[in-house]
Amino acid sequence: MGLIPHIDEKSGFCYGVIRVVKQAESFLKTNSHLNSLGSIVHNTTEVSRLRDMGISVIDHDTLKQIKDSAVLIRAHGEPPSTYLTAKENGIKIIDCTCPVVLKLQERIKKGYEEVKEKGGSLVIFGKKCHAEVNGLLGQVNGDALVVESKEDLAGLDFQKPIVVFSQTTNDTVGYANIIAEIKQRVADAGGSTDNVVSHNTICRQVSSRHPNLKQFAAKNDVVLFVSGKESSNGKVLFGTCKNSNPRSYKIESTSDIDPSWFNPGETVGICGATSTPTWQLEGVATFIKGL
Ligand code: SF4
Repeated sequence: MGLIPHIDEKSGFCYGVIRVVKQAESFLKTNSHLNSLGSIVHNTTEVSRLRDMGISVIDHDTLKQIKDSAVLIRAHGEPPSTYLTAKENGIKIIDCTCPVVLKLQERIKKGYEEVKEKGGSLVIFGKKCHAEVNGLLGQVNGDALVVESKEDLAGLDFQKPIVVFSQTTNDTVGYANIIAEIKQRVADAGGSTDNVVSHNTICRQVSSRHPNLKQFAAKNDVVLFVSGKESSNGKVLFGTCKNSNPRSYKIESTSDIDPSWFNPGETVGICGATSTPTWQLEGVATFIKGL
């Protein structure tokens, strides 16, 4: 008896990624080539599809050297210095920064001004060197503490006001734990926890997927979570699947699938990150049917 694949209807690109891919495709209808500052998505399969369409990935060093061409800014956003370099080099920017990230950049600028007036600190709960976090840091000239875990809190002054924001694709539970830890340390230092202002800025396109994935993973015998290695939300969402169903496997493509994971007649749930295209989930389903 063959395997029965089920694709999670709520998986697939998020709004911000759909938007950037559409804009890139639309540009390439009338142009043969487009530079993208960093990979449009953290998904090698989709990146190679886009490369075949005419997109080259460049880094910040290359941006400084090229002139008079078009460069796409992806959904993660960029610091102000990138726009300055582009202006100096006559580069046309196709700005696909996700509106959710743009809003967060503005909120961080405002939050920074307010907390600095009171002599306090700004904290970003996020992954060090992640493109979105670099863009956020650029709004405040790098004057913020990026916190991945409790260990990173050591440099904070717990007696002064603290304002906290999150990278949009971070983990909700991890965020709540960091806020609880900061408040505890403020209390231990004899300060008031009212001085800690928390802005949970995790994107709902990520956080709303957890309850669905938990159920989806539980109702299938085996789960295949399709995601690029670099995807932050992929790591977090896969964790939800694994907690709900220990027989969950993270794969980048069908070549990672080991047939020994399955027994005849079992159901196989196929889901993915916000950077995993639906066509890739469908490809995995076809592969599973053929096993
Ligand atoms: S996860 Fe949210 S913030 Fe990030 S690109 Fe998608 S819609 Fe935008």
